[in-house]
Amino acid sequence: MNAQLSTSSDQQPIKKKNRKKKPTRVDCPYYKHKNYMMDRYGVPMFRVPIDLGFGCPHRNADGSGGCTFCYEDGGRAEQTLVANSVEEQISGGIEFARSRYSATKFMAYIQAFTGTFASASEQRKVYEKLLDQYPFDAVSIGTRPDCLPPATLEFLQELSQRLEVWVELGVQTTHDRTLKRINRGHDWESSRAAIIKLHDMGIMVAVHLMVGLPGESIDDNIATAETIAALPIDGIKIHNLHIMRGTELAREFEKEPFTLYAEDEYAEIVIEMLRRFPPDVAIMRINTDTPANRLIAPHWQMSKPAFLNYVANSMKKRNILQGDLYQAGGSGVIPTKI
Ligand code: SF4
Repeated sequence: MNAQLSTSSDQQPIKKKNRKKKPTRVDCPYYKHKNYMMDRYGVPMFRVPIDLGFGCPHRNADGSGGCTFCYEDGGRAEQTLVANSVEEQISGGIEFARSRYSATKFMAYIQAFTGTFASASEQRKVYEKLLDQYPFDAVSIGTRPDCLPPATLEFLQELSQRLEVWVELGVQTTHDRTLKRINRGHDWESSRAAIIKLHDMGIMVAVHLMVGLPGESIDDNIATAETIAALPIDGIKIHNLHIMRGTELAREFEKEPFTLYAEDEYAEIVIEMLRRFPPDVAIMRINTDTPANRLIAPHWQMSKPAFLNYVANSMKKRNILQGDLYQAGGSGVIPTKI
C-alpha cells in the first residue's frame, strides 16, 4: 500500500509559479480559507465532512498502533459520528449548511482516517455515486503522503477533470526525528515528493502541520514553515498539539510530561509561521477543536473564535501580514535527517 512516490525532482524546492503578492481581501492579516474560496468561486464554499470508512493503513486491524497523537476515531467530525450512513452524513451536512448559512456551493471533505486507503477502482465507484447524487463543486481528500500509489494518482487526476480536487496531506513536521518519535511511519521526503507530484498533476495541495510536537522547538516550527513555503502548496492547516485520552501520546505524557504551549505562546509561533508562508496560500485552520471529554491537555481559556481574533488583532497591532517574511524566508532547506 505505502507506495513511495518517485518524482523527477531531486532535493530542490519547487515554488508555485505566479504567486499573488497580496490577497485581494483585507479584513484579516492572513488569508482566511473563506476569503480564498470567495475569491475563487465568488461565494463561500461549504465543506461537508464525510467518512467513507476506508480506515487507515497505519493502524492494526484491531485499531491499535498508528500515530501517537491519533484518537481512535481517526479525526472524524462529530457530525459524521451521529449519521448511520454516508448518505445521511452528506444530506445532513448539506441541509445544515443550506439552512444555517444559506450555502450554495459545497465541497465534499473526505476527512476521517486515510481518504485514499482503497483500491482506485473502489474509489472510482464511490465518487461516481457520490457526485451523481449530490451537488458538489469540489472534493477535498485527507490522506497520508505515503498512501498515493500510481493508480490512485491517476484516478485523482481523472477526477480533477470533472471537478476541483484538493488533497490534504498529513505532513505534521518536516523533521524526521519528530516523525519517528510520533510514529508517523513515513519521512519528510514522502511528503515533499507527494506535494510536488500532486501539484504537477494539477491537483490542489493543502498540508496539515502540528505545533507543540514533543522534542520540537520554535526554531523547528519556523524551519518547517520555511521549507513548506518553498513548495507548490495551496492551503495550510496548523494544529496545536492536543493530548487525547487513550492515545499513545497520553501514555508518553503521563510517564514523562513535556512542555505544552500556553495559548499566547502558541499564537506567537503561529504568527511567525504565517509571516513565512506565501501570501496567497489559504489558511484553513490555526487551532484545534477537541471535545472536552477527550482532552487531557492543554486546557486553554480562549474559545476558538476568541483565539482567531487574538491572532488577527495581534498581527494588526504590529502591522504584520501573512507572507511579509516570505521573500526573505522560503529557503527550502531540507532538514538534516537523523
Ligand atoms: S493520524 Fe491519520 S495516519 Fe495517523 S493513525 Fe491516525 S488516521 Fe492513521
